[in-house]
Amino acid sequence: MRYPNPNRLVRPLVRRLAPYTPGEQPKVKGLVKLNTNENPYPPSPRVLRIVRAAVDGRLRLYPNPTADMLRDKLARFYGCSADNIIVGNGSDELLEMAVRCFVEPMPWTESLRAGFCRHTGHVSSVSRHIVQYFTPSYSLYPVLADMHGAVKNPVPLTSDFTLPSVTELLRGKIWDFNAALSFITTPNAPTGRGYPTSVLEALCRVQRGVVVLDEAYAEFANENALSLALRYPHVIVSRTFSKAYSLCFQRVGYFIGHPDLVHALHKIRDSYNVNGLGQLAAEATLDDIAYYRDKFAKIIRTRTALSQQLTALGFQVVPSQTNFVFAKPPQPAQAQHCATRNKRGQLRDAKDWFNRLHEHKILIRWFDQPVVRDYLRITVGTPAQARYLMQVIRQILA
Ligand code: PMP
Repeated sequence: MRYPNPNRLVRPLVRRLAPYTPGEQPKVKGLVKLNTNENPYPPSPRVLRIVRAAVDGRLRLYPNPTADMLRDKLARFYGCSADNIIVGNGSDELLEMAVRCFVEPMPWTESLRAGFCRHTGHVSSVSRHIVQYFTPSYSLYPVLADMHGAVKNPVPLTSDFTLPSVTELLRGKIWDFNAALSFITTPNAPTGRGYPTSVLEALCRVQRGVVVLDEAYAEFANENALSLALRYPHVIVSRTFSKAYSLCFQRVGYFIGHPDLVHALHKIRDSYNVNGLGQLAAEATLDDIAYYRDKFAKIIRTRTALSQQLTALGFQVVPSQTNFVFAKPPQPAQAQHCATRNKRGQLRDAKDWFNRLHEHKILIRWFDQPVVRDYLRITVGTPAQARYLMQVIRQILA
């Protein structure tokens, strides 16, 4: 008997799919890991104590399906109702659910026509199929759109990575003000730039579809846009316990938005989407906020020092409102002055820098994509890690 070719059992859409590329996981010991924007400081002693104490016979039980205690605590923390909140297995899960909840997949026979429509500007009929985002921003969004069979609408940021104004977006004619779903990363990744709430609000006011403000790094920024999610019925703010609260391992994120949107998202949630230890860890985190605020301040101080030192060496550093910096290594003219050449005698590009740092056991992120190809994204670690990084960079330049 002949069995089917397993590849032919996979949907064409999935066969074609280019998956999301996560940051590299260290395979050798002793690497300085500055590539996935993890917090260099551990969770608070209280959080660790509570998680350890929960590792007992309870592990056989299902966790609370709607993370009620955590939602209540978050609601008290933000002065809203638990009905405004849904918790996810990391915010990534919720971003994916937003696409499934608010965007109509594109019937494949229509996809070609839609491509044509987008170029001729007749977008209104495809708006309900559109996942829209600025570029560069979080590289997961296009993957989520592709997974769903949605139409992607990537819209370039300005040349210095600031957010175009509504007037500029109208003039540019690419942004779709009716798009079913728009993702805005704020502060942005991988650039680190923060966007003023007033600029975000101006855009939200004219947008007709759902807007998700992805605030994964908000705790490191001067301002955040949470108030918009509580004021506008089509605006959702996405937050996570991963970065600022040192809980990447536990996978807990949440959306805050209008109860009707949140209610719809609950309908398509996995029954027990957030693990029990993660719920407990996140609850305990909210009881120990002073510990974390002290760490945010430390990370911001290290970020300032790192940015200044890189700038002094000829790097172009984008002002950061996050726990990472986005920096363009010295360009050929400056590089000649610094005599930075690689082994083949060529002037170094960002990829060379990535490789050279790797040789020195420092892991950072380099994206092989237009616009960002010339930059390095470096997570702000501890002061000791930053000192080592700068020592290696000076050595490479010498
Ligand atoms: N949004 C942005 C902009 C991110 O960089 C990340 C982390 N890669 C996430 C969301 C997802 O974070 P998590 O799933 O850990 O909550």
